[in-house]
Amino acid sequence: MVTTVAIAGSTGSIGVQTLEVVADTPEDYRVVALAAGSRLDDLIDQAERVRPEVVALADESRRNELSERLPAGIEILSGPSALADLATVADVTVNGVVGFAGLPVTLACLHAGKRLALANKESLIAAGPVVQRARRTPGAELVPVDSEHAALHQCLRANTNPARVARLQLTASGGPFRGRSSQELAKVTIEEALAHPTWSMGPKITVDSSTLMNKGLEVIEANELFGAPAGEAGAHIGFDQIDVVVHPQSIIHSMVTYADGSTIAQLSNPTMKLPIGYALAYPDRFPISYGGIDWSQAGRLDFEAPDRSAFPCLDLAYEAGRVGGTAPAWLSAANEVAVEGFLQGHVRWADIPIVIEETMAKYDGQDAENLDAVLTADLSARKYAEMVLSQR
Ligand code: NAD
Ligand code: MG
Repeated sequence: MVTTVAIAGSTGSIGVQTLEVVADTPEDYRVVALAAGSRLDDLIDQAERVRPEVVALADESRRNELSERLPAGIEILSGPSALADLATVADVTVNGVVGFAGLPVTLACLHAGKRLALANKESLIAAGPVVQRARRTPGAELVPVDSEHAALHQCLRANTNPARVARLQLTASGGPFRGRSSQELAKVTIEEALAHPTWSMGPKITVDSSTLMNKGLEVIEANELFGAPAGEAGAHIGFDQIDVVVHPQSIIHSMVTYADGSTIAQLSNPTMKLPIGYALAYPDRFPISYGGIDWSQAGRLDFEAPDRSAFPCLDLAYEAGRVGGTAPAWLSAANEVAVEGFLQGHVRWADIPIVIEETMAKYDGQDAENLDAVLTADLSARKYAEMVLSQR
């Protein structure tokens, strides 16, 4: 039987790789829906190639242009609810939207009782409790695409008793600035921040990797996915049991240490196609190898502790995660504003944690029990972050 796939954020790094993965197994998977934010030419190009049933564009103003240029017979969705509507049409929806804008996709897919292959970590981080409730919809299933969490998901399958999970180790490449002092970091450029040593990704997550905010967000993501009490794959752990270890080769994608001292790791060469295929095929295995290691050529695996003072974003994320409520939503929104400000040339790289910290100082302590609270938190944090940004 063919599994149908919807791709939200199809024009981005995750979206394009998902199309390639599906194209490799046409007898097993078929793309039936594509959605993008604004890159119309790319979206039309993709639609001509894969002939989906539905195409969605967040940018309403370009609907007419889209309908003129799309091949006949493809349904068009546009406007604010377009992406959410798209997330209910296929067996699996890959959420490759960047940032908080991915939240409607995450919620709509889970509420429809479908499988969500989640790359968009920001939605889970900002709306943790709301997403947890949506995950309880009959039939709903969340399989992580983020490589570290796909690794943990695999490592946790070696276990049947959540109480025996002792620690989760998230690996981090360390990004382009690993080993630099705070003084050296004061003058890094946009080009340097965008030159990741082991992964080729969209600009926002690449900058997040350079500040270690990406790893901080992933700590919160791991707690949401696997921590008590939510973790369906099961681990009775919290932030105190989630570690970050720098591993520059990006071969070990993360590890689980059990009560008996065993550490189980997942290894492969760095490519997002493997976790994308994993999320499509789970509980089966994807039939094609991406990133398989030639062990006769394998080099060394190095590990070191992260430099928490030169990269303060990591601990800002731990702190927000531990506070809970809407603090992670504030953190993630402030980070989006700060990173955008950096990419636009308004602030320096070293200002990113400062903008976030100053925004978090205004955090109002609200809980995240419903969607309205999360949306309000996102707006408030953005407002403060823009204000801090404009004063720098
Ligand atoms: P990207 O910038 O390459 O692509 C983002 C996609 O989202 C584009 O298709 C864009 O059109 C769409 N989009 C942006 N704003 C939108 C909006 N308002 N409404 C609808 N669509 C919108 O980003 P990416 O690197 O592919 O990352 C996507 C997500 O996956 C992020 O959350 C990122 O953290 C996560 N992720 C990416 C990688 C990777 O290797 N790229 C790895 C792990 C996790
Ligand atoms: Mg990751």
